[in-house]
This record gives sequence, C-alpha cells and structure tokens, in this order.
Amino acid sequence: MSKLTSLLMAKPGKKLRLDEIDPSFTHGYDDKEKANAKLEENLEKLAALQYRLYAEGKRALLIVLQGIDAGGKDGTIRRVMTSFNPQGVNVTSFKVPAGEEKSHDYLWRIHKAIPPFGGVGIFNRSHYEEVLVVRVHNLVPKAVWSKRYDQINAFEEMLADSGVKIVKFFLYIDKEEQKKRFTERLEDPEKNWKFSAADLEERKFWPEYTEAYEEAISRCSKKHAPWYVIPANRKWFRNFAVSEILVDTLESMDLQYPKAAPGLDKISFE
Ligand code: AMP
Ligand code: MG
Repeated sequence: MSKLTSLLMAKPGKKLRLDEIDPSFTHGYDDKEKANAKLEENLEKLAALQYRLYAEGKRALLIVLQGIDAGGKDGTIRRVMTSFNPQGVNVTSFKVPAGEEKSHDYLWRIHKAIPPFGGVGIFNRSHYEEVLVVRVHNLVPKAVWSKRYDQINAFEEMLADSGVKIVKFFLYIDKEEQKKRFTERLEDPEKNWKFSAADLEERKFWPEYTEAYEEAISRCSKKHAPWYVIPANRKWFRNFAVSEILVDTLESMDLQYPKAAPGLDKISFE
C-alpha cells in the first residue's frame, strides 16, 4: 500500500474529525504537471488491472463516490475512470428514489446495481445518501436512519465475503471552494446547466452535512470496505489521489488469469 493511500484512509474504529484535514492538501506536490504525469502512469496500470479482473471473472470492484454538491464526483469519473474498458464497467447515479424504488427497501436499488464478478461498478452517490441527505432533512425519523449504519455495515460485509471489493471516496472541498465552483456554474454558459437552486439551499446545511459525513465515515470505514477522505480543492490532486488508491486496491486483490485449458500448447493449425 502506498504512503498516500494509508494516509488518506479513514482508520477503522477511529472517530473522524474533518476539521483536522486540509481540503487543499497536496502531499508535497506543488505543481500540477508532476501529479498529472503520475496520474497518467496510474491510468495505464488501471487499464491492465481491470483487464485482469475481467479475465479472472471471480471478483468485482465497487467504487463509491460521495461528496457535497460541486465536490467533483462527475469530474473524477470523467478523468479517472476513463482508463477502464467500457465493456466491464457500469456507472450508476443515484437520485431521489422514484417510481419502483419507492416500493422497496432502501438497499434494493443498490443491490441491483452491484457489479457482476469480473466487473467494475461506479456509484455516483450511493446508499450513504440514506444517512446523509435523509438524516440532514429528517426524511425518515431518527429511529429509522440511525439503524442504517449497522445495516449498511452488514450489507457491505456480505458483499465483501461474496467477492466484491469495496472502496469508498469522500471528495472533501471547503465552503470557499464550493462558492468558487457555484460561481463558475453561474457565469460560464457551458456550465449553467449544472447549476441548481436546490444546491444553494443545501449549502445552508453545511454544518449538518459535515456532522453526517463524519459519523457515516467513522462508523462505516471497515477493513473490508474502507473510506478514503480525498482532499479535493485541487482537482489535479484529487484525480491523482483517487487513481493511486484504485491502483493499490486492485493490486492488493492479487488478480489471477484463469488457467489455460489443457492442451492449448499442442494445438496447431494452418
Ligand atoms: P445530483 O447528484 O446533482 O444529480 O442530485 C441528486 C440528488 O438526489 C441529490 O440532491 C441527492 O441528495 C438526492 N438523493 C440521492 N439519493 C437519495 C436518497 N436515497 N434519498 C433522498 N435523496 C437522495
Ligand atoms: Mg447536484
């Protein structure tokens, strides 16, 4: 495991305090060029590792992306996840539950989106919304959401036991950076579409979200499903850090090609 990976991991069993983490941290990289060169190296490694995961066909990788509005979930997917062969990758964006989703338990839509063995699944938001937005706005009573931490842990443990490697990223920006990004969305005609008045409303709940994230990450960072807090004010550092952790995660799986069918070496043809 690289030094950066272990540094950014939310240690299982330890109470996370976000005010102890600097969202502008760059791990000594002061220029974008160096981090980008490393990112490119990692993207090549990821492509090769995914190929192996697909060939092995026995385990899956689930990548969970969470973050406050404008935290960079879409940008991370665009820049880092492109190294994966689209055949074998699924991105699922979770919105306010609607239609059929409302007629089931809250993990139903999540379970359906878990990648098949051999595949990579990317969650743009996730079951964690059930202890984030749901908690902040009391969409269900506290007696209901407060039981979900244990339920989520049990669900993820079952997945891990079944061969799904889980890695969870919280893209951490500060309030100033969010303001900057919202302003860009307002001023740049090509970014207008991303602006939503609802996001401004959510911004008012910054302290409540901070508390909700701290509790979710503290209670649900597990050895088999760790949370990583990614300092994300600098997009180039965020991308590099996520790529580094993904390489480490896939390398730790020790992926194996299936054994060749017997007799392949004796086959000859014209
Ligand atoms: P966006 O990611 O900007 O497309 O927005 C999706 C919205 O759906 C966000 O405001 C989320 O908080 C919301 N959302 C996602 N999952 C849930 C959920 N389980 N319950 C309530 N709201 C949710
Ligand atoms: Mg949004």
